[in-house]
Amino acid sequence: MPKVLIVEDEKVLLDLLTRHLQNEGYTVIGTTNGEEGLELARNEQPDLCILDVMLPGLDGLSLCRILRRESNMAIILLTARAGEIDRVIGLDSGADDYVVKPFSLPELTARIRAALRRLPRRSENILRAGDLQVDLLARRVFVGDREVRLSHKEFELLAVLMRNKGAVLSREFLISQVWGYDFDGDMRTVDVHIRWLREKIERDPSKPVHLQTVRGVGYRID
Ligand code: CA
Repeated sequence: MPKVLIVEDEKVLLDLLTRHLQNEGYTVIGTTNGEEGLELARNEQPDLCILDVMLPGLDGLSLCRILRRESNMAIILLTARAGEIDRVIGLDSGADDYVVKPFSLPELTARIRAALRRLPRRSENILRAGDLQVDLLARRVFVGDREVRLSHKEFELLAVLMRNKGAVLSREFLISQVWGYDFDGDMRTVDVHIRWLREKIERDPSKPVHLQTVRGVGYRID
């Protein structure tokens, strides 16, 4: 059965949702804390996360953006007030859906089922470009039969390029996708990581077959 992570600081609501979803047959893990939610998401790899927007510490929207960068899990936000909905939609949090409190349990269950139905199947998480193969869920990369080990950022960079295979992606776009919109470092960070990536995925990094530079524009995977 699908695994659901709930991050909700109202303990009563957390317990209620946990019991309800367990009765529905889901494996449920829960926490009242955003930081712990992030740790649980990374360690447990849930299929779906239910995140309360207003959390002390790491808030639901920030957590949502981090999770979206790192995985394909479905994300449903719980918002408390009408005013929050504008923020939820406006900030492009990467959530799949949102539910406004107070909500009924059947409504939430229906949203969960719908979000899980939209999840890509596992086979669709394996992307290929020539003899380069990237498993987005297992986070493994192969060149032919050889597995290559990438750092977290190198993998994220490669994943963004593979998801947009054939398209030229600008440094600005890659920075926003891999390092986040609040990154205030140097654009050359991208170039450095591209160089490291080439050393790992190209047979001859000076004559790249997969990872192309498009002068004055950006990078592309073919
Ligand atoms: Ca809350």
